[in-house]
Amino acid sequence: MAVKSVTILGSTGSIGVSTLDVIARHPDRFRVFALSAASRVEELALQCQQFRPRFAALADPAGAEQLRLRLKALACDTEVVSGERALCDIASHEETDVVMAAIVGAAGLPPSLAAARAGKTVLLANKEALVMAGAIFMNAVRDNGALLLPIDSEHNAIFQSLPRNFGDGLSNVGVRRIILTASGGPFRERSINDLRSVTPEQACAHPNWVMGRKISVDSATMMNKGLEVVEAHWLFNAPADIIDVVLHPQSIVHSMVEYLDGSVIAQLGNPDMRTPIAYGLAFPERIHAGVGLLDLAKVGKLEFSAMDTDRFPCVRLAYQALQRGGTAPAVLNAANEVAVDAFLNGAMAFTDIPRVIEDVLGDANINAATTLEAVLSADAAARAAARERIDRSPIQTAAAN
Ligand code: NAD
Ligand code: MG
Repeated sequence: MAVKSVTILGSTGSIGVSTLDVIARHPDRFRVFALSAASRVEELALQCQQFRPRFAALADPAGAEQLRLRLKALACDTEVVSGERALCDIASHEETDVVMAAIVGAAGLPPSLAAARAGKTVLLANKEALVMAGAIFMNAVRDNGALLLPIDSEHNAIFQSLPRNFGDGLSNVGVRRIILTASGGPFRERSINDLRSVTPEQACAHPNWVMGRKISVDSATMMNKGLEVVEAHWLFNAPADIIDVVLHPQSIVHSMVEYLDGSVIAQLGNPDMRTPIAYGLAFPERIHAGVGLLDLAKVGKLEFSAMDTDRFPCVRLAYQALQRGGTAPAVLNAANEVAVDAFLNGAMAFTDIPRVIEDVLGDANINAATTLEAVLSADAAARAAARERIDRSPIQTAAAN
C-alpha cells in the first residue's frame, strides 16, 4: 500500500487536530508532509515534534522565527515557512498527495484553490472557500483532475448516499432532493426575545459538536446551514430548489438523498468529525477512526422538524444570495465573517448578525464571479461595508431593544 503524504492547512484547529488523531492511528498509511497554523506557535511546535513534517507554515511571519527557535530546542528539523504564498506552496507541492483544507474563513481560499489547481486530493472542510468562489473552485478541480472529497459532515453524508456517477447530473441519476439535516444549534428552542441577549460563550456551547468559535456562532445563527446550502449547490451541481433543510436535534442522521422512486438514502453515525475525516483520508477504502459504535437503542429517538426562518433569518439570506448568484454568496460570507467577529468581540448583539448581512447584501454591487480578482474584490468591499455598518450605529444592541 502506497503511503499517502498529507498536508494539513489549519492543523491546530478543531478539524486539524481530529485529522492528526486519525493519522496517528495509521502510521502505515499516512505521512504528514506539512502542517500549518495562523499563529499558535506552541501547538504547532508540539505537532511538529510528534509528526515530523517536512514543512511547518505559519500565516503570521512574526511567529515564524519563534517557531524556528522552539523547533530547534525540540531537536526537530522541520523547515519553517511563512505567509500566504507559503501556504499555497505546501498545498500544491509535488510531494504531497492529499490536502486537508481546514483553515476557517476566506483565508482558506487561496491555499485550497492552489491544491485544486495542482490536481491534489482535496479534503474540503473550509466551506467558505466554496461559498465565495464555487464556480472557480469547481472548474479548477475539473480542469486539473483534482479529487474533491467533502469533509463537512452533511456533505460527506450526501457524497456517501449518492451514486459514484453523480457527476453525470443529479436528474440523470434519479435524484429528487438533497436533504441537509441541521441540529438547530444551542438556541434551537429560544424565543426571538431571548436571542437578543445571548453571549459569545453561550453561542459557542454547541450541544452535539465541539468546534472552532466561528463555526460555532454560525451554527447558533444557523448561517452554518445557509453556507452549507451553497456548498451543496456547488459540490453536487444541485439547483437551490432541490436542496432542503430539516431540523434534527440528535445529529445522528448526517444528511439524506431522496430519489425519484421515493427511496431516501442517509448516512448515520455518532457526531464525531473523525468519521468524515477518515472517509476522506482513506477513500475509497474504510479505516478505523476511533469513533465508538452507534448505539441506536441508547439514542432512543431521532426527531425531525421544520426550520423557523423568522428566528433564524440567515438561512433565508443564504438561499437568496445563492439565487442571486455571481458575487452575492461571497458578499454574504464576508459580511458574516465580520459580523461574527464583532459579536465574538462584544461589539454587537447576536441578533445584529443577520441585520448586518442583510444590509450589506442589499447595498452591494453584485458582479459575475468568474475570476478570483472579482471574488476577492467583492469580499473586500463587503468587509468594509460591514465594518462601516457596525461602526455607524451601535445597531440595536440588547439594551437598545
Ligand atoms: P478552528 O478555528 O478550530 O481552526 C481553524 C484553523 O485555521 C486553525 O488551525 C487556525 O490556526 C487556522 N487559521 C485561522 N485563520 C487563519 C489564517 N488567516 N491563515 C492561516 N490559517 C488560519 O476551526 P474549525 O472548527 O477546525 O473549522 C475549520 C473549517 O472547517 C471551517 O471552515 C469550518 O466551517 C469547517 N468545518 C468545521 C467543522 C468542525 O466540526 N469543527 C465541521 C464542518 C466544517
Ligand atoms: Mg456541517
